[in-house]
Amino acid sequence: ARELELEFKINTDVAFKDVGGMEQVKEDIRMKIIHPLKNPDLFKAYGKKAGGGVLMYGPPGCGKTLLSRATAGEIKANFFSIGLHQVLDMYIGESEHKLHKIFELARKYAPSVLFFDEIDALAADRRDLKGSAGRTLINQFLAELDGAEANNEGVLVLGATNAPWHLDSAFLRPGRFDRLIFVPPPDQVAREEIVKIHSKDKPVVSLDETALAKKTDGFSGADITAVFDHATESKLEEAMKQGKIVPITGKDLVKAAKKVKPSTRKW
Ligand code: ATP
Repeated sequence: ARELELEFKINTDVAFKDVGGMEQVKEDIRMKIIHPLKNPDLFKAYGKKAGGGVLMYGPPGCGKTLLSRATAGEIKANFFSIGLHQVLDMYIGESEHKLHKIFELARKYAPSVLFFDEIDALAADRRDLKGSAGRTLINQFLAELDGAEANNEGVLVLGATNAPWHLDSAFLRPGRFDRLIFVPPPDQVAREEIVKIHSKDKPVVSLDETALAKKTDGFSGADITAVFDHATESKLEEAMKQGKIVPITGKDLVKAAKKVKPSTRKW
């Protein structure tokens, strides 16, 4: 169990304010996950049960993982992040066992947010999952989601995929991933926010956030992170040579942006 914990449990020192843009997505998650958890009696009175999972889809690098982590942070829950390949790349029978253990861990640490990335790896039409072995794992996953053997109270499940249409429709039934949320590429306003978030903990000067956001049209959040990483690295090198802080300027960032390819264009 300790090993699993080390592999999947992640600290949650982030909140919604650390995630740029995504107002609609945040609101959906508030309504579906945060409010019911904070006001269980009120929701019950209106016949609304907390629970069920949220499936996010959209281009890679646009903050699905970050937002899930921030959701856990908002409700002071424990956070477990699982890439499905970490479960799939195992001998037959072992995957089911590992998946079960992960859910057990999340129940033990409830309230917890359980985040599954690459959910499409479970799609029934995938070659590597064809046959009974794949089916067994899918059934195990569905049973865990349903809380068939155990109580899932306080366990919130979030999933992410780049291709929801590949997913077995059984996952989308009520009580499972019954809410599908599109996480779009960041628009101008969102990119401005992401730029501001990334500047906060660095010596950045004379930066026009609006201008940089304009120059990063088509960039994912992860692409913008890469822009800051490039600029930071070269400035750090200079700083080490000079033995003092050399600030990152808006110009440096615009220059760095030219080296990064916008990855969401094809969406
Ligand atoms: P994938 O589909 O590839 O798993 P993802 O949608 O889960 O991608 P994240 O892993 O959350 O994307 O994002 C990668 C990194 O990009 C984050 O750690 C963060 O640094 C940055 N990032 C992405 N989106 C945002 C955002 N909206 N606000 C701030 N940072 C962001």
